[in-house]
Amino acid sequence: MSKLITVSNRVGVPSPGSGRAGGLESALREALEADGGIWFGWSGEVGETRSETPKIQKKGNVTFATVDLCRADYEDYYLGYANSTLWPLLHYQLGLVEFHRKQFQGYIAVNEYLARMLLPLIEPDDLIWVHDYHLIPLAEELRKLGVKNRIGFFLHTPFPATDIMVALPHHEVIMRALCAYDLVGLQTENGVRAFLDYIAREANGRLEFDGSVSAYDRLTRVVCFPIGIDTEGFAKNAVRAVRSAEATRLRESIDGRQLIIGVDRMDYSKGVRTRFEAIDDLLTEWPEEAAKFTYLQITPPSRSDVLPYQALRREVEHAAGHVNGKYSDIDWAPIRFVARAVSRPALAGIYRSSRIGLVTPWRDGMNLVAKEYVASQNPENPGVLVLSRFAGAAAELKTALLVNPLDPSEIAAAIHQALKMGLPERRERWELMMEVLRNNTIDDWLANFLKALKATRPLG
Ligand code: UDP
Repeated sequence: MSKLITVSNRVGVPSPGSGRAGGLESALREALEADGGIWFGWSGEVGETRSETPKIQKKGNVTFATVDLCRADYEDYYLGYANSTLWPLLHYQLGLVEFHRKQFQGYIAVNEYLARMLLPLIEPDDLIWVHDYHLIPLAEELRKLGVKNRIGFFLHTPFPATDIMVALPHHEVIMRALCAYDLVGLQTENGVRAFLDYIAREANGRLEFDGSVSAYDRLTRVVCFPIGIDTEGFAKNAVRAVRSAEATRLRESIDGRQLIIGVDRMDYSKGVRTRFEAIDDLLTEWPEEAAKFTYLQITPPSRSDVLPYQALRREVEHAAGHVNGKYSDIDWAPIRFVARAVSRPALAGIYRSSRIGLVTPWRDGMNLVAKEYVASQNPENPGVLVLSRFAGAAAELKTALLVNPLDPSEIAAAIHQALKMGLPERRERWELMMEVLRNNTIDDWLANFLKALKATRPLG
């Protein structure tokens, strides 16, 4: 019987202390549970040497198969090529792209190793679903080992325009590897258009009548599947969480002021520093707004082993301090900066207590925070989402206040508009966004991807 095998860079094996899984993780686990599937990938451990065989742990009907990597893998594959070359490139940050041939070779070598470790677990009719930019070469490596199964790939980040893609040394190696998949899923139609543009201009390929892409002597389907959230689950949780001790404490502390919430990993793609500049602009342009709002920015640390992330943290903290120093009074500061993670259930209560959700990444594959903020709102008195036009979510959440995230004064004007927006307009905008989120949940996303993967033809 065919089963599903999902592959991701990190595998979170559920354990008593591991907390509640995110939407994607629980949806994938459910799908694996249904037919006794396997979740394969890196354990997150770095050992003296790589594992010789995967560690197998069965939880319910799901098999978790994980391997440890060695220090050189961690440096070249994870910190190096995945997070210092591909991540900035995919997020249009050419100035931050580093390229070292040794890291590129390390990236390919880890994918070749993972393919070898996965091979014995694959049975002929299994569907294989690979996630994200760390693992682009995996299908090609599996094909080299003779795997003929249907293999799908989903890219959680943006897929960049051709002119960005070609800045990547050996971009054709990466694109050829992507075309070894039977199905490539992207977050937006914009990404699909960029992919097809690359294929036409750089790979001399074409779009076939049946909708598949023909390039590098292969046929691949490239389809947009915007990732969703557990919309109703989030909404229900928010009703509960808004009454929690944590949310109550927060509301009491803001003393009737309007709350603005930002929630982002510490990452240069998220535009947090520009957001602080926007608060500066807001208070310069509309000084009467001082002391009428509190902006809470929750920013858990991320990838602190990668150099630009260390510098970023200093810059962001400095920017928050600068704005607070300029505008604070003895009983009010415009920005509260929390540099640690907050649990997802607690976030739901915080979102629901916030008049504005401020989500202004410079680029983002989707941005789940934007969707979670909308799903958490009180239908009788919803808040306003201020959203970057360069987040994947903007393609769906068209009635958010869309802004250019590079322009602090445009963000400031949108915050001001949101602070002043009357209830009828807030409700109308929110209802339209909520309808989109109800029509494309995480379960729909998963079902749509798997249906499309099953519909591809297995290699003969
Ligand atoms: N998140 C969380 N606690 C935090 C910050 C973020 O649980 O302190 C969650 C958030 O609810 C969301 C995810 O992390 O589900 C972030 O996803 P998003 O697509 O917004 O950004 P990413 O970090 O994947 O780039």
